[in-house]
Amino acid sequence: MNTVALLSTPIELPALPYDQGALAPVISANTLSLHYGKHHKSYVDTLNKLIVGTEFADMPLRSIIRATSAQSDHVEIFNNAAQAWNHAFYWKSLKPNGGGEPPAQLKRMMEVSFGGVDQCKKELSKAALSQFGSGWAWLVQEGDKLKILKTRNAENPLAQGPKPLLNIDVWEHAYYLDYQNRRVDYVNAMIDKLANWSFAAENLGEK
Ligand code: MN
Repeated sequence: MNTVALLSTPIELPALPYDQGALAPVISANTLSLHYGKHHKSYVDTLNKLIVGTEFADMPLRSIIRATSAQSDHVEIFNNAAQAWNHAFYWKSLKPNGGGEPPAQLKRMMEVSFGGVDQCKKELSKAALSQFGSGWAWLVQEGDKLKILKTRNAENPLAQGPKPLLNIDVWEHAYYLDYQNRRVDYVNAMIDKLANWSFAAENLGEK
């Protein structure tokens, strides 16, 4: 019997919300298989090893991220916890036959905050393309406005306050097999053909 399982509740690797081939040809089954089955799984597995027997062992993932953010003695736990969360959020930010018109309330907020849906998409694309090296681009809600953010490596907006609505993984492992160095083609295809605006709209909250 595995005694570790008796001592703590492991963080789970959530199931992909679609088949591994469902996002092709924009994101191939090969990329998804490695990205989910190796990269994402490895963040979850590593996190579970790191938190055994620590104060973080029974915390929900979001609480681990908030508790370790910007704590120099917990960098490794933060990185793996944040990447575990970022990837679960990324899979939901995508859907087969995505893109298109956002739901009405989200569309209105895009118009108020950016001047229109297309301008919002352009800002999101710009953030994803200008993130130097590995990281993430985010559509977030702050009060009654929407904003675009970019973060480095594993960092995410959870500890700072803005509410994440949708994200884009711009680590090379997200696109290199399909697009090599052409991040621009991956980002624009993702926004136009896979962005799950319904998921983004479901994340809209009061604050
Ligand atoms: Mn990734």
